[in-house]
Amino acid sequence: MNSLFSNNSNNIEKSKLIIAGPCSAESREQLFSTASQLKDLGVTNFRAGIWKPRTRPNSFEGIGFPALDWMSEIKQTFGMQITTEIASAKHVEACLKSGFDALWIGARTTVNPFLVQEIAEALRGTNIPVFIKNPIHAEIGLWIGAIERFQKMGIQQLGNIFRGFHTSHSAPYRNEPKWKIGLEIKRLFPELPLLCDPSHIGGRRDLILPISQTSYDLNFDGLMIETHPNPQKALSDADQQITPADLKLILETLIVKKSTFIEEDLKHKLIDIRSEINKLDYQVMEILSKRFDYTDEIGRLKKEGNVRVFQLSRYQELLDDHIKHSEKFEHLDKVFIKELFELVHKYSIAHQTKINTK
Ligand code: PEP
Ligand code: MN
Repeated sequence: MNSLFSNNSNNIEKSKLIIAGPCSAESREQLFSTASQLKDLGVTNFRAGIWKPRTRPNSFEGIGFPALDWMSEIKQTFGMQITTEIASAKHVEACLKSGFDALWIGARTTVNPFLVQEIAEALRGTNIPVFIKNPIHAEIGLWIGAIERFQKMGIQQLGNIFRGFHTSHSAPYRNEPKWKIGLEIKRLFPELPLLCDPSHIGGRRDLILPISQTSYDLNFDGLMIETHPNPQKALSDADQQITPADLKLILETLIVKKSTFIEEDLKHKLIDIRSEINKLDYQVMEILSKRFDYTDEIGRLKKEGNVRVFQLSRYQELLDDHIKHSEKFEHLDKVFIKELFELVHKYSIAHQTKINTK
């Protein structure tokens, strides 16, 4: 079957799908050099960007159509499966003609329902695997929408790629990995393989290993890693590409952990601790329920006294006080406490508003 979802050879962890290759196809020589070294490592899925969606004009925007033949040659010469990014129906048609084994849509395409629809329609009736990268901004609805558009066109072999999000506070990453969003996509679409792209998340060579390990620990199904024979000289994304030799080291270092304990004594310990946690969670709920009783009482008072529900000064004072108080507890993170009480307060206001509008 024409499927990238079957996996690598040699010494690469069989349960993980690895796609590697340069950010951009730059020359025939560059592609051949990368592919032959990757093949020696046992990587059988080869990527290269042919059309590059660059943020600014006058950057290298890819070789375009002439690179299609180079990719077909890679497939014939090394027996590798080839994949690239497509962003229009024209790209789809050209790649299907050139025998591509899989395609992906990039973060700048997933944000655009018109383009996604056009691409999905161009793919209707084919059996080629398609990967969908998360949209550039942390708007999960756009990602879900893109998946649904492909599903509606009957595309059977779908996968997702998590490449992080553009945020104003992404340091040390190029794109902030909001892992929760990746895990939510896995929860909503458990049957679709979810890969991690540590190259675009990290934006730096030294971050690729730790990000990859985190993705393994979160049970992602594989990796897409940008690999170049001479990364410093790459025409795009030079800071984040690694050599095939470095990729080998990373793949050898990564650990695939067990999904659960096999050892009986550890298993029992886990059950005991979880039952203690459940007891505490029930107590938290009991306390919250009592807290909402008081909230409602305040709501009724405000109604009686004809006083506004939302009191900014009280909200600010509560947050400041609780954040300060949390310093007494070693394991309570300030940001966690802030987010927790912002949520509690939001629902308290909702309770009171309901009482006041009755
Ligand atoms: C890429 O994979 O080279 C790329 C452009 O990725 P993204 O769409 O995630 O930015
Ligand atoms: Mn890139």
